[in-house]
Amino acid sequence: MTVRAGREFLAIPGPTTMPDAVLQAMHRPALDIYSEQMINLTESLLRDLSKLFATRGKSYIYIANGHGAWEAVISNVLSRGDRVLVLESGRFAIGWGEAARAMGADVEVLKGDWRRAVQPAEVEARLRADKTHSIKAIMVAQVDTASGVWNDIEAIGKAIKAAGHPALYMVDTVASLGCMPFAMDDWGIDVAMSGSQKGLMTPPGLGFVAANDRAIEVHKKAGLRTPYWDWSEREGSEHYRRYCGTAPVHLLFALRQAIDMIYEEGLENAYRRHRLLGEAVRRAVAVWAEGQVLGFNIADAAERSDTVTTVTMGNGHDPAPLLRYCKEKCGVVIGVGIGDLQGKAFRIAHMGHVNAPMVLGTLGSIEVGLNALDIPHGKGGMEAAIEWLGESVTP
Ligand SMILES: *Cc1c(COP(=O)(O)O)cnc(C)c1O
Repeated sequence: MTVRAGREFLAIPGPTTMPDAVLQAMHRPALDIYSEQMINLTESLLRDLSKLFATRGKSYIYIANGHGAWEAVISNVLSRGDRVLVLESGRFAIGWGEAARAMGADVEVLKGDWRRAVQPAEVEARLRADKTHSIKAIMVAQVDTASGVWNDIEAIGKAIKAAGHPALYMVDTVASLGCMPFAMDDWGIDVAMSGSQKGLMTPPGLGFVAANDRAIEVHKKAGLRTPYWDWSEREGSEHYRRYCGTAPVHLLFALRQAIDMIYEEGLENAYRRHRLLGEAVRRAVAVWAEGQVLGFNIADAAERSDTVTTVTMGNGHDPAPLLRYCKEKCGVVIGVGIGDLQGKAFRIAHMGHVNAPMVLGTLGSIEVGLNALDIPHGKGGMEAAIEWLGESVTP
């Protein structure tokens, strides 16, 4: 017996649920890529991406996933042998650093922890010790989708400034842009990157990069530039060059619709919605944790992301049967633990096109699974989530 008929819900941290309007926006013929319509579409998106990143700097759109956008950043601002400082707090900044190493950079990892955020004071101390300014760039993820951590990018920016270090500050916002506040210029960020398929509710396949003037200056002398990623190649009046070839027309239609929806809701409202729904998930997990099997991966409540919650599972329990139950019996797909947390955790995504029924349905299904599989857990997680939303979402 199952109760899964109906639409399967993806509660994994990417790709996420796409609004019907986004899917429908693609159901039309391609554009003449030399038409004014095409040029206007591109220009509107580049403008709005810079607005989302909150920068007066330039934005670039790549036909790529997040890994591609990482490579775009590395290629445009680094030279062989340049030292990069990677701020560890899970899997993703490390992955970005590994790409930089493979491309010829000299990568140093500022040791962090899978259970806590990057500590700005440790960043400052490392930079102060770099008297010769051998570090050329700093890489960090705002939200690490593996650990579920939220890094205080503003505070890290202040630490870099306090150290008086000139390294480029580069931030991965793949799992946070459009969902949690981000202010590239105000926080002193030089390069930011993101992708289409998480908070931005668009099919996978678009990578975004924003760069300020300082980054563009460094770019001019960067040695790792290659034609596809190259910012300079994408400048000029010829629209065709913006994508170094044919534009991903349908993905752009989808992105246009998604960004319109974000601005229709209001960016601040979208942030608030994510905070409320994220907290609803945390309220439920906190109660479940009383059973001594489930717990938060991120120890400090203030460091937990509003877009994804990583739940550890211990005491000899394997998350796989629970995830299988949720998918096969209830029709909700929960994220697996990855990296160091493989087989030891699961991840509940709450980013992008999510609302109360999606999140409560997900939490309720997990609770059904916990009961059905006799996995010890504190009773009343759902009630706690419901109570929180009832108190916070006032009439
Ligand atoms: C998903 C993710 C990536 C990688 O994006 P892909 O599109 O899967 O290549 C990078 N960084 C973060 C923080 C992510 O969540």
